[in-house]
This record gives sequence, structure tokens and C-alpha cells, in this order.
Amino acid sequence: MKTDDKIITKSPTTVVKGRFAPSPTGRMHLGNVFAALISWLSVKKQDGKWVLRIEDLDPQRSRLEYARLIEDDLHWLGLDWDEGGLDDSGPNPPYRQSLSGEIYEEALRKLKETGLTYPCYCTRADIMATQAPHESDGRVVYSGKCRPLELGGTLTTPPEGKSERATRLIVPDETIHFTDRLYGPQAVNLAEHCGDFILRRADGAWAYQLAVVVDDARMGITEVVRGSDLLLSSAQQIYLYRLLGLPVPEFAHVPLICNDAGQRLSKRDRSMSMEEVRKVAEPSHVIGQLAHLAGLLPAPFPISAQGLLHLFSWSAIPKLSKII
Ligand code: GLU
Repeated sequence: MKTDDKIITKSPTTVVKGRFAPSPTGRMHLGNVFAALISWLSVKKQDGKWVLRIEDLDPQRSRLEYARLIEDDLHWLGLDWDEGGLDDSGPNPPYRQSLSGEIYEEALRKLKETGLTYPCYCTRADIMATQAPHESDGRVVYSGKCRPLELGGTLTTPPEGKSERATRLIVPDETIHFTDRLYGPQAVNLAEHCGDFILRRADGAWAYQLAVVVDDARMGITEVVRGSDLLLSSAQQIYLYRLLGLPVPEFAHVPLICNDAGQRLSKRDRSMSMEEVRKVAEPSHVIGQLAHLAGLLPAPFPISAQGLLHLFSWSAIPKLSKII
């Protein structure tokens, strides 16, 4: 193995562990499969373990049926996992976030002890009214309206008639530095990037940022490979790892696959959804196409995921945020 293929510096006893953490809110598209493939190849090349975690945090949008289809698509592609999935097999269950509430509760309790959390009564409409969405990606930076008074908040008593509240975490006006395996050194100021962020929503749903950190840590994940849309949110996650005293994994974000119009794929792009793809292609064609986009094959030859392992190298993958 070339040194550049290792995304972590490991001692002989460290088990390399990666994961694929889909949200079962629709059928997978080729962009999801691309991230899963690179994660699988990176881990398997290092003789590591690959975890499938079902991120069904959003009760309104998650469906068991989609989780079953994700599993079926991964099997069809030859991307088999060593731990996790709907049958919860492995040493760190639950592997479904909807079943992990007590674990997140405990983490939230620890964060509350730091004195850095506060209840927030803002509705989405309040937030949009006080802050213009970030121009390039629609991100909203929270204004800090419900912060404690001494930290610039404006609320003296809970607003009348609002019993529901979210829990937010105070972020420092400080730059978080980290090095992404593909995109290199990153510097993110959390106050400018997102402001105080949500740990638990007013309806009781756990926020992605808290759940992903708690789960990656408790499952012993050493490398996080996922789409480049989540690159900057790694800074929020590093902040949480530090507050919770947990080891930070290595981050490797990969380009997003776009449609012909240059827009990143969404679950609405039917032609790139696995449902349509499976009607017209064999698994080896899909893997070959994606491997070609990843710079691992000079042309999109049919190949199995297993057959691609000896060709895998991080240095081949284009350092682009999107691939069309
Ligand atoms: N559940 C997230 C998604 O499907 C991925 C989260 C992650 O990989 O950290 O977009």
C-alpha cells in the first residue's frame, strides 16, 4: 500500500473503520453510491471494517421501506458491510438513529453541563426574518436572538404561548482548523459559518450534527468519507468532539455527482436514481462508470467493486467539489 492511500496514521492495533450513513428519505442516486463506493474502497484497501448506519432521524421524511431498498441496492452493487444495517448486527448497536435517543440524551446532558447550551424559541419564520440566508448555499446563520442576555441575546422571559423549544449550542468566535484528505487544509469560523447551532429541535427530533458525532465516536469510526456538501459541517462536528472529549476521526470528502445541467443530484433526479439505473445497467457498469469519474479507470469499463480494489488510490480522485 502506498502511504498516500492511508487516510489515517495507524498504530498496528488500530482497526480502520469507515461508514456509510444514508438518510432513508428516498431511493439512492448515483451521487450517494459514489460516496459509498469510495468509502468502501478506502476501508477495504486497508483491511478495515465498513459500517452501515441508517440515519432515520427525521420522523416525517424517513421510511423503513427506503432503508430496505438502500440495503438491497448496496448488495446489488457488491458493497457489503461488516456491521450495522436494519438487522442491527455488530458490537455497537443500535445502528439506526431512530433507536438511539437515550444515547443522544446522555450526550446532550454532558453538553448542558458545560453551560454552553440554551433554549431557543425561534420559529423558522423568526430566523428567516432576522437573518438573510447565506448567499451561495442558502445556509442560515443564527442571529443569537435567544442567547443568554450577557452574551448578546434579547430574550428576558420565554415568549408567551411558546412552550416548545429547541436546544442550541453556543459557538465561539474562533476558527476551527482541520485537514481534509482530498481538499486539504480548511479553516472555518463557526460564528460566521452557522452561529449557535441546534442540538435538538423543538419537536424533539435530534439534530444531525449531534447524532453523527455521537454515533461515529461510539462505533469507533476512524475515517469519515462523504459528499463535499458536508465538508464545512465537519468544523461543527470537531467542536462537538472536543466538548464531549471524543477522538476526532479523519475526514475525506468526495465530489458530488451532478446532472447534465450541472446541478447536484437530488432524490428527485429520477434518471440517476437506483430504481431507474437498475432497469438499464448491470452492477459492473455502474461501478465502472463511477470508477471512471473517480479517476480510477481510464474509461468506464465494466468492473466489480472487489475488482477495483487494487486500482484504488486517493491520489487519483479529482479535487473538485462537483463532477458533471
Ligand atoms: N445522513 C447524511 C446524508 O444522507 C450523511 C451524513 C454523513 O455521512 O455524515 O446526507
